Amino acid sequence: MQTKRLKDDKNGIVAAAKILKSGGIVAIPTETVYGLAASAFDDAAIEKIFAAKGRPQDNPLIVHISDLSMIEQVAADFSGKAEELAKAFWPAALTLVLKKGKKIANSVSRGLDTVAVRMPNCEVARQIINETGIPLAAPSANISGSPSPTSYEHVIADLDGKIDAVVCSVSSEIGLESTVVSLVSNPPRLLRPGGITPEQLLEYLPDLEIDKAVLEELEKGQKAASPGMKYRHYSPKTEVFLVEAEDEAFYNFVNSKKNAAAICFLEDEDNIIIKTLCYGKKGSDKEQAKALFSILRSVDGLGVGEVYVRAPEKKGIGLAVYNRLIRAAGFKVIRL
Ligand code: AMP
Ligand code: MG
Repeated sequence: MQTKRLKDDKNGIVAAAKILKSGGIVAIPTETVYGLAASAFDDAAIEKIFAAKGRPQDNPLIVHISDLSMIEQVAADFSGKAEELAKAFWPAALTLVLKKGKKIANSVSRGLDTVAVRMPNCEVARQIINETGIPLAAPSANISGSPSPTSYEHVIADLDGKIDAVVCSVSSEIGLESTVVSLVSNPPRLLRPGGITPEQLLEYLPDLEIDKAVLEELEKGQKAASPGMKYRHYSPKTEVFLVEAEDEAFYNFVNSKKNAAAICFLEDEDNIIIKTLCYGKKGSDKEQAKALFSILRSVDGLGVGEVYVRAPEKKGIGLAVYNRLIRAAGFKVIRL
């Protein structure tokens, strides 16, 4: 199949909507990462997403809406905390898990009776949904397991020839996926950290619990509240290790390594003698989030056997950065 390149202007948006309405799959920009969209009402279109990405069969998709009036087509119940959070945050990098509405294709939620829903802040994304007139299910537009795509070039590198079109727009503003909060569990549960921080949510959900899988590997046989969180994910082919250490300990450790590179903060660079890639300033969780996936994508080009990543602080969006990195490292964390 030939993958069409569409612009993010009116013509491109209309063309994308036409493909989506007729059962095709289109990569679209969002402020979190690029998404691979299909009609949330169309089982056959949803299955095309799973095939193109090689996505594990049990991992449900997030449904995207452009307007609050669309929510009744997605969720069976939208009241209380759901409505309060939506009004406070949307459009934003916040996904709410709610009771599933009847119209949503079963293939979207992979057998669960719940549905994950979000209104993206990216203007182009909302225009595409609006023009299509249908809620769009969209996971990240990458091959499953590889680092998520934060630019249309990343999408093309992974999915050229496997999807109908890509809407070519700017790089994703946040650079990592949405925060997923389940409101069907009591108390409410943070299933995946992301662009909206726990600190922001606690104001509305004082009893919010952070799922164990956010910061740790699930034990064998343990059931994942969010199926996507149990997989190794976001990984380059090069072996990744996450290193939690103070300055000197980190420098001494990586400088003793052969055939290896370090992913570190800007301030670390002058102290490291092996190859380095920087993912932002030490204190800037936003910079780190925005740079992370692009940096992970460039690791394989370095020609080294191993890469050691300096762990971020788990504060603010840093919690989400840490969550992606432990998965990229296959849970191999070195504490010095
Ligand atoms: P992705 O679209 O690749 O960013 O992944 C979506 C994330 O949301 C995955 O971690 C899914 O497991 C999670 N998710 C989607 N729908 C549900 C749901 N109904 N219940 C719990 N987690 C969900
Ligand atoms: Mg993904």
